[in-house]
Amino acid sequence: MLPPMSSPPIADAALADHAFDLLVRLLRIPSVNPPGDERDAADLVAQELREAGLEPQMLVSSEKRANVVARLKGTGELPPLVLTGHLDVVPVEPDRWTHPPFDGVVGDDGCLYGRGAVDMKNHVAMSLAVITRLAREKVRPRRDLIFAAVADEEQGCRAGSLWLCREHRDLVHGEYALGEGGGFSLHLGGKTFYPVQVAEKGVCWLKATVDGPPGHGSMPRADSALLRLAEKVARLHPTALPVHRTPIVEAFLGAVVDALAPQVPGLRELAAGLAAQPAMLRALVDRIPDPTVKLGLLAMFSNTASPTVFRAGDSVNVIPGRASCEIDGRLLPGQSETDFLRELRDVLGDDVTLEVDHTMPAVEATPWKTPLYATIEQVMADRAPGCPVVPYMLPGFTDAKGFAQIGTTWVGFAPVKLPKGLRFADLFHAHDERIPVEGFRWGTEVLADIVTRWIG
Ligand SMILES: [Zn+2]
Repeated sequence: MLPPMSSPPIADAALADHAFDLLVRLLRIPSVNPPGDERDAADLVAQELREAGLEPQMLVSSEKRANVVARLKGTGELPPLVLTGHLDVVPVEPDRWTHPPFDGVVGDDGCLYGRGAVDMKNHVAMSLAVITRLAREKVRPRRDLIFAAVADEEQGCRAGSLWLCREHRDLVHGEYALGEGGGFSLHLGGKTFYPVQVAEKGVCWLKATVDGPPGHGSMPRADSALLRLAEKVARLHPTALPVHRTPIVEAFLGAVVDALAPQVPGLRELAAGLAAQPAMLRALVDRIPDPTVKLGLLAMFSNTASPTVFRAGDSVNVIPGRASCEIDGRLLPGQSETDFLRELRDVLGDDVTLEVDHTMPAVEATPWKTPLYATIEQVMADRAPGCPVVPYMLPGFTDAKGFAQIGTTWVGFAPVKLPKGLRFADLFHAHDERIPVEGFRWGTEVLADIVTRWIG
């Protein structure tokens, strides 16, 4: 048996070259979900792991849905770290792309184009480069390092992390899982921040139905189910539900204010006053002209309800007796389904039937400032001096849901440096999804530093 050995520094050009090569090869595999078929991408990952002397397990949840897990054995002195990313990507409209979405081409702008470039074959490729390098260096760290490349994140994780964590808990259980949800440059007020996802909202998908008298289309009636439903749903503007304070959002806003305060006289005092009146703070945020920034921030203050699917009627000359609307509800940490339904009913009124279809609880690290978070802060102080790391709550969901169910704390940090003018929120799921090559190489080295410092 090899003696225990702490991890050597591996963040170098060879590592970044390898990660880049892996990313290009992964981008050339169209693992689009729906319908979902991750087998070819999973085969590539497994092959790489085997070549480095690791023993990957291919775990197939259903036909065509493949997950790959491997473990670099440590001494077991400390609990394992999981590196994880999903292999599936969202669909494309190829005509709308500057470069074909599955060719893996670097454009004149120095960006590598491809579906999955930032969501999230980038993190899969860099994690794979890191674990295979450590295996080739015959490192035996104080913690096991687990790597899990999963299926089906984009359609709700059921054939991927939720299944994997339920059916193969022992293979993927660690103290922390390092995955997506943060790590990108966030440019705000002339400063650059690096968010770490330490929480994400819960999900409550439901259907609102209104019944009314049917009738002939030639004689309009004000009590028609469709008109009444439409009037109710129109009340669901982005600030319709009440504000709730959460520790993570307050810490995020506090860190942003601290960083900007030296340039903006009086900001700290203003922020202190607004913190006590969050509804007023939200009203101010609602006036931000940039929609990407505004909508991202607004979702942090409250539970939200987006109407997404309308159904009513099947004939142009018949007033339907029933109309329904599917609503995508998202819940803040600490808010229950009952809380949310009460708030929604306050807005929609009593004469609407609400049926919950699917729920997933919010995820929150408590306390949010974990030792792994502190390690990320230390690495970033070296790698991105002057750019504060801030705790962040994702309004959407990730594979964190499955890992949280088995007691693994999620830390969302898939590092990538983006220049000003290129915003993460405008890249993921977008036409021309792309990643700056230099920003990706930088991210690979950052991840290598975090992993080697953490596993010892
Ligand atoms: Zn993703």
